[in-house]
Amino acid sequence: MSNQSWPGVSSLVLNEPLLWEKGRPGRVGVSLPESDVPAAPYEAEGMVRTDLNLPDLAELDVVRHYTRLSTWNFGVDTGMYPLGSCTMKYNPKINEKIAALPGFAGAHPLFPSEYSQGALRVLYETEQMLCAVTGLEACSLQPSAGAHGELTGIMLIQAWHRAQGNTRTKMLIPDTAHGTNPASAALCGFSSVKVPLGPDGILTVEDVAALMDDDCAGIMITNPNTLGLFESNIKEIAELVHARGGLVYGDGANLNAIMGYAHMGHIGIDVMHMNLHKTFSTPHGGGGPGSGAICVSKTLVPFLPGPRLVETDGKLDWVDNSVDAGGQSIGRMHPFWGQFGVVLRAWAYMKTLGPDLKRASELAVLNANYIKFSLKDLYDLPFPQPSLHECVFTDKKQEEFGVSTMDIAKRLIDCGIHPPTIYFPLVVHGAIMIEPTESENLEDLDAFIEAMRSIAELAETDADLLHASPTRTKVGRVDEVGAARKPVLTGDM
Ligand SMILES: *Cc1c(COP(=O)(O)O)cnc(C)c1O
Repeated sequence: MSNQSWPGVSSLVLNEPLLWEKGRPGRVGVSLPESDVPAAPYEAEGMVRTDLNLPDLAELDVVRHYTRLSTWNFGVDTGMYPLGSCTMKYNPKINEKIAALPGFAGAHPLFPSEYSQGALRVLYETEQMLCAVTGLEACSLQPSAGAHGELTGIMLIQAWHRAQGNTRTKMLIPDTAHGTNPASAALCGFSSVKVPLGPDGILTVEDVAALMDDDCAGIMITNPNTLGLFESNIKEIAELVHARGGLVYGDGANLNAIMGYAHMGHIGIDVMHMNLHKTFSTPHGGGGPGSGAICVSKTLVPFLPGPRLVETDGKLDWVDNSVDAGGQSIGRMHPFWGQFGVVLRAWAYMKTLGPDLKRASELAVLNANYIKFSLKDLYDLPFPQPSLHECVFTDKKQEEFGVSTMDIAKRLIDCGIHPPTIYFPLVVHGAIMIEPTESENLEDLDAFIEAMRSIAELAETDADLLHASPTRTKVGRVDEVGAARKPVLTGDM
């Protein structure tokens, strides 16, 4: 493959040396007319720093610098991004247009509600749409990430237990859970109890029954789980946990697999978070803003974060549900209205797709199974049954040639594809977790499959090339541990 065919990066950029220092003394990006007022000295000593050493640059230098940097980056607008569990679907540009409308972009959270009815309507409709998707009773848009939604949900479960006079100290969490699950439980003072993976890759009622006792506040279940498998026993498990006085938390990060098909409220979930930035297409990754909206069953409504948005005679307003106002709310989880820009993009996405949300899930599942089926002869599949929106392979077949999951992932970068999630879930040795999402067309899926085939072939014929990958990027294989422990955050490379 020539450099030319690598999407998003022209050969010109690749051959260019790293040249960071572009400034020249006295070069400027603006020209101002001669001042016609007398110069006045700065009065405040020490207000102007002279040690900043900022470069002198022309406007074009700056434009070229940032435009060039953007071509070294990889995003879903550049190529396929099958990062399992992260749902890197295409973010339609109409979401951005709507979010940029001056009435929304300029809205101030302290503006009186009679002047903010449009923005409040967006929040209210988003809450209602999310309740419809989950089959649950009420929604809070305050949490600003999945992990924050988990924390909020576990706080709700804890508040409910306290209101019953319970002091339970444990939370059941499956082996396959995202690391944020035990972290959220720990933040609320619960110790987590691991529920082992059943033989089919899903939870069994027996395993949960053996662990669910009087000291367990409940269970956190990701459905479909991080192996892409639907937790078929979830209804029975929820009944069992309820019968023993616990509540059920649903990690909804994988909602993209089941929209319109499975309503978590109908199968016994008491509270779940959704990652609006994953399922409902707002740009994410790199730690940008997100939204971890939660939906709850009737049981937990009184404890929801506040204030709550209520409609009276067609007018929307905030109602105080705090303890001071006679309510039972756990209090605020976020200032003002939550992550409004992200919620607005999710609203635009749901309004655009409407009933086709179901179709999005259908295609996401179809795409993942197409990849699973096409690669099953070349890569080891620990759980061969059909999965939902993502599938997990391992490096077991390549291991005998000394090739690891890391090598496979790095070679995909040379093929113009973002690597899948690797070494997760932790219970699968050398996991390669692929989530194509519904956005990819057949040709792009085939190109991915072809890339994976070529890598399986290279493992047998030229393992060294795989060990050396990526070879076509600006920066080769990085020392990931070193990068995390001793980060170099300046241009001095
Ligand atoms: C992404 C994810 C989370 C955490 O969500 P953030 O928005 O990144 O905080 C939790 N659980 C699962 C299964 C996830 O994939």
